[in-house]
Amino acid sequence: MDMAEQFDVVVIGGGPGGYAAAIRCAQKGATVALAEKDQMGGTCLNRGCIPSKALLGSAHFLTLAKHAPLMGLEIADVRPNWSKMQARKDAIVAGFRKGVTGLVQSNRIKIFTGRAIVSAQGKVRIEAVGGIQEIACKNIILATGSVPVEIPIFPFDGQTIISSTEALSLPTIPASMVIIGGGVIGCELACVFAAVGAKVTIVEALPQILPNEDEWVGKLMAKELKKLGIETMVAQKVTGVTASDGSANMSLESGQTLQAEKVLVAVGRRAFCDPETVQSLGLEMNGPVIKVNQKMETNVPGVYAIGDAVGTTYLAHGAFSEAEVAAANATGGNETMHDYDLIPRAVYTFPEVASVGKTEKKCAALGLDVTVGSAPFRSNGRSVAHNENVGEIRAIRDKTSNKIVGVTMVGATVTEMLAAARALIGSTEPITEVCFAHPTVSEVLKEAWEDAFGISLHVPPKR
Ligand code: NAD
Repeated sequence: MDMAEQFDVVVIGGGPGGYAAAIRCAQKGATVALAEKDQMGGTCLNRGCIPSKALLGSAHFLTLAKHAPLMGLEIADVRPNWSKMQARKDAIVAGFRKGVTGLVQSNRIKIFTGRAIVSAQGKVRIEAVGGIQEIACKNIILATGSVPVEIPIFPFDGQTIISSTEALSLPTIPASMVIIGGGVIGCELACVFAAVGAKVTIVEALPQILPNEDEWVGKLMAKELKKLGIETMVAQKVTGVTASDGSANMSLESGQTLQAEKVLVAVGRRAFCDPETVQSLGLEMNGPVIKVNQKMETNVPGVYAIGDAVGTTYLAHGAFSEAEVAAANATGGNETMHDYDLIPRAVYTFPEVASVGKTEKKCAALGLDVTVGSAPFRSNGRSVAHNENVGEIRAIRDKTSNKIVGVTMVGATVTEMLAAARALIGSTEPITEVCFAHPTVSEVLKEAWEDAFGISLHVPPKR
């Protein structure tokens, strides 16, 4: 038998965590293999971030076009063409998939297509269509991702009861859709389907939509979604679904009933790792989640895990950060993941929601004595000029340390201000001396920050 091909590092999973880790290892001079059983780019590129943002891009354009009369414009007819929206989305995804594959190869990383199983420490078996191949390595980085959570009493049927994967590629616009779960996926896809004309209802189990954010965010977003025609039901659970003839009847805990053409279940994602790998390595798990320490090391020496598979953030950029740490440590470095609060959170709804650092409720739970500065978009010149003046920014200052510990933003383009908001976290001094261009949307961030120190220029003094 041939000698197994040998690598310094084998990365399993070609999503944002996996390909970033592979590239970083290669940049350090390691010989690297990357195994992917499906398509390069993982959930983010193939059935997550990118396709959803492509559809949201079309939906946003459509929503704005409907405001034409307010802007002094006459547009005769604006209608969605779903199959063209789908084709555009598919082309965007295909383009990035090609790009990422080329990028990985340009870093001299060998891509193996097939199911990769770690059969023993330093040994990976790849089951491809063409046959089985064994490769050997010093270190392994598991970046095996996640799958949509299913509700056991009404599992996915792929037709009427669907996950985000099917929702992103529906052949036609459904007349109606009930979305179970008012989290990130639920709210984003509600914006897509409402914009193209579906009657959308969100059913959220907790007392607010986007429950990871502060209460004011949930309330404001419910009000804004309502303007798009989206109904939100909170503190409510679907107890049963019967699907037949392309339609679903649902019963709710309250005794109410709902009917819809599609039921989108968006109640979170579950970490995934091949059970054979878990068993052969004796990986320590926490349910479906691979246990790791701050160095992204599993209990098995030389085996690291990152991204959705470790159940920390379920965010592509969370996986990017963890990839940096795992790649450094797998190539002789010594790095640790630090404060997960500093991983920004972005929701691409209309308007957008973006936050970084601690929320007010997290501060309360930690017993921090805080004061909250705020500034609205309605008094920002550029936001008004663009007719995108909904929302506000809040900056939280810890009175004891006198530092900004969190920023939460709701508004048209707030996700693009996350890097600036991140830079404010930990700052103690008001930024009166930092010059923000005028008129820009980002001036609202400066106002909120100054307000947290009681010295905003454009927010009237509080009495
Ligand atoms: P999520 O955790 O954001 O939201 C799930 C929601 O479902 C929660 O609000 C939860 O309270 C609710 N829920 C749970 N069980 C329920 C039930 N039986 N009935 C009604 N509501 C129920 O998860 P998601 O929206 O499915 O997204 C999965 C992951 O993917 C998340 O971690 C998310 O951060 C990530 N994601 C991120 C982005 C982004 O960053 N823009 C976009 C999409 C997904």
